[in-house]
Order: sequence, then structure tokens, then C-alpha cells
Amino acid sequence: MKSDTWLKELRKQGYRLTEARRAVVETVAQSPRALSPTDVYNLSKEHYPALGLVTVYRTLEKLEELHLVQRVHQEEGCNAYLSEAEGHQHLLICTECKKAVYFEGDDLGDFFGKVGEMHNFVVNDHWLQLFGICEDCKRIYD
Ligand SMILES: [Zn+2]
Ligand SMILES: [Zn+2]
Repeated sequence: MKSDTWLKELRKQGYRLTEARRAVVETVAQSPRALSPTDVYNLSKEHYPALGLVTVYRTLEKLEELHLVQRVHQEEGCNAYLSEAEGHQHLLICTECKKAVYFEGDDLGDFFGKVGEMHNFVVNDHWLQLFGICEDCKRIYD
């Protein structure tokens, strides 16, 4: 399970795994959606009622530092966290249920290179997030 890998990684970094931190790690590792710190707090509290919001923030920070989670940009800002994909991947995000799916591969490198040239930039990286409606949500509206 993903949370086991994360817990192992945190332990390797000398991070003390209290039950509160563990609850946070498990919540984020299992989530198919990007979660705000408040979402993480509310969901983790079901498993560990004594949880504090500060622990949530610190644990998310640590997970980000280790590149286990990445921030996702949403209307409210870049304040939601999602487990990071391996390698170069892009995101599809459902605007209804907030489900996030990674996809691999794009042939936009040449295009971005040209955009760079037009503006005298050397483009050497990009992040891509696409927004839309997922299959489940589409079904509800059909
Ligand atoms: Zn959806
Ligand atoms: Zn790309």
C-alpha cells in the first residue's frame, strides 16, 4: 500500500511517526482527490479524534519536501495536496467532484519551445493541469 511506502520513507528520514501523523499520511495516500489541509484534518479526525491542525500542516509540509505529495492549483489557490506521480505526468481534474487523474505523455515540448523563442525565454519545464468533468459526474448530468 502507498501509505506503507510513505511511512517507511518518513521513518528513514528520522521522522517520528506518532499516531496523529500516521492518520494524516494514510488519509492523503488513499485519496483520489487533492485535499486542502482542512479536508485532511476533517477526514483524518475520523481515525484520530485528538488530531490538531498544526500536525496536519507540518506533516503535509514534510510529505511535500520528500516529493511524496505535490500541490495542485485550484480556484481557491495552490492549497490542495495530491500524491505525486512518478516521472513527468500531467493532471486531469474534475471540477465537480475534484477527482484527480494523472496522465503520461504530451507532444507539447516543441510548442512550448516555440512559445519560449517568441518571448526570448528558454523554456525548460512545464506543469499542466486540465480541468473538466469526469465520467462519473458526466453520467449524473446526462
Ligand atoms: Zn467528477
Ligand atoms: Zn509534459
